[in-house]
Amino acid sequence: MIKHYFFLITLLGFMGIMQGQVIMNRDHEIKQMVDEISAENIEKYILKLVSFHTRHNMSPQDDPVKGIGAAWNWVKAEMEQYIPASGGRLSVEFIDYKAGGENQRIPSEIELKNVVATLKGTGNDDDRILIISAHLDSRVEENTDYTSFAPGANDDGSGVAVILELVRIMSGYEFPVTIKFLVFTGEEHGLYGSSYMAGLARRENWNIVAMLNNDMIGNSSSSETMLNDNMKVRVFSEGIPAYETEDMARMRSFTSGENDGQARQLARYIKEVGERYVDQLSVTLIFRNDRFGRGGDHTPFCREGFTAVRITEFNENYDRTHKTPREENGIMIGDMAGGVDFEYVRKNGGINLATLANLALAPDQPGNVRIDISGLSNTTTLTWNKPEKGKEPDGYYVLMRETYKPLWEKKIFVKETQVTLPYSKDNYFFAVQSVDRDGHESLPVFPRPSRR
Ligand SMILES: [Zn+2]
Repeated sequence: MIKHYFFLITLLGFMGIMQGQVIMNRDHEIKQMVDEISAENIEKYILKLVSFHTRHNMSPQDDPVKGIGAAWNWVKAEMEQYIPASGGRLSVEFIDYKAGGENQRIPSEIELKNVVATLKGTGNDDDRILIISAHLDSRVEENTDYTSFAPGANDDGSGVAVILELVRIMSGYEFPVTIKFLVFTGEEHGLYGSSYMAGLARRENWNIVAMLNNDMIGNSSSSETMLNDNMKVRVFSEGIPAYETEDMARMRSFTSGENDGQARQLARYIKEVGERYVDQLSVTLIFRNDRFGRGGDHTPFCREGFTAVRITEFNENYDRTHKTPREENGIMIGDMAGGVDFEYVRKNGGINLATLANLALAPDQPGNVRIDISGLSNTTTLTWNKPEKGKEPDGYYVLMRETYKPLWEKKIFVKETQVTLPYSKDNYFFAVQSVDRDGHESLPVFPRPSRR
């Protein structure tokens, strides 16, 4: 109980509501895992990825040292090393799929492979899945050029490096929830690998709680504006969901819930939990699905109705993105390892790990969360059900914010599954999350209106 009060104080402190000292209440085990992430290992992985010369989707698959085939074989073998330490809970597989064809960016059909590592959850009746992803393929200016040097150190060697580091660390720990580490191919030619996986996940009805897609998380200096900053990272989240039924749209309009979709709840959660565990890094929430004119592997998952966001560096360097490596007027062009800030990648890996671990240790979300709109009242009554599966929550946090504020402002701990608060339901937004004794929170659930 005391612990929960500390959390409340911590949060209020962060929000600037309360002045004075800020108490950082961290789970010892999560902190330890975050501290295990090594910038040196990340550098080593990225240098290895660059050594494949190109990871273009149409590059050779049978060359032992060059091309995308050599790269996916290496990623798989690298992950497989940790199977013994996991006590057999970790498994690694290729997922084959077909990409390309007439009038497509890959002009004739080829077969490609995603690499998938699965760390099986220890909770027997728990079918929840968490996903972290990145893409393996790389490119230069001309997207049909599959022979030129395309190092892809940052795009997306940085994301793949974090996945390898997290497989290494997390496979040594136990979580009730299953974690999947997805390394996609086909991204640069139109999100082929992730589209295939999102479709597969939908057909097999995976219970995905959250997907964190990492694409370009290692550059900390901007082109043109010459900013240097490795203390900020962006999380992109969709507002109005790409997947929305008529019923969902009606409900969104009725509740004014356009800023409270699942992806946005996840984005706020990453900010809160990531900043709890990673020093010298603040998470900037970008309230849009992605950048102008560009896409990412989270989008096919959003389209299938899953909760997915994109994590990306704050400053981009366009001299280094999708460019053939060369030097021009003393400026380094191309996506070389020299342009990657490994310490920055380490910190960005930390927010991923903290989010995954906190979610994997948390109870499931409360069910059927509803807000009573049956009468006119200056109070708000919220009701919900205990989660049906997984561990029993110690209690719940009721989250609250003013309607024009981007982040939750208050976090009220309650033991019961109903609460009446002396605040008008018209003047605030609310949500409810489950929490265990150690403070691991589920994702928040935005309530549906109900008439008693
Ligand atoms: Zn990319």
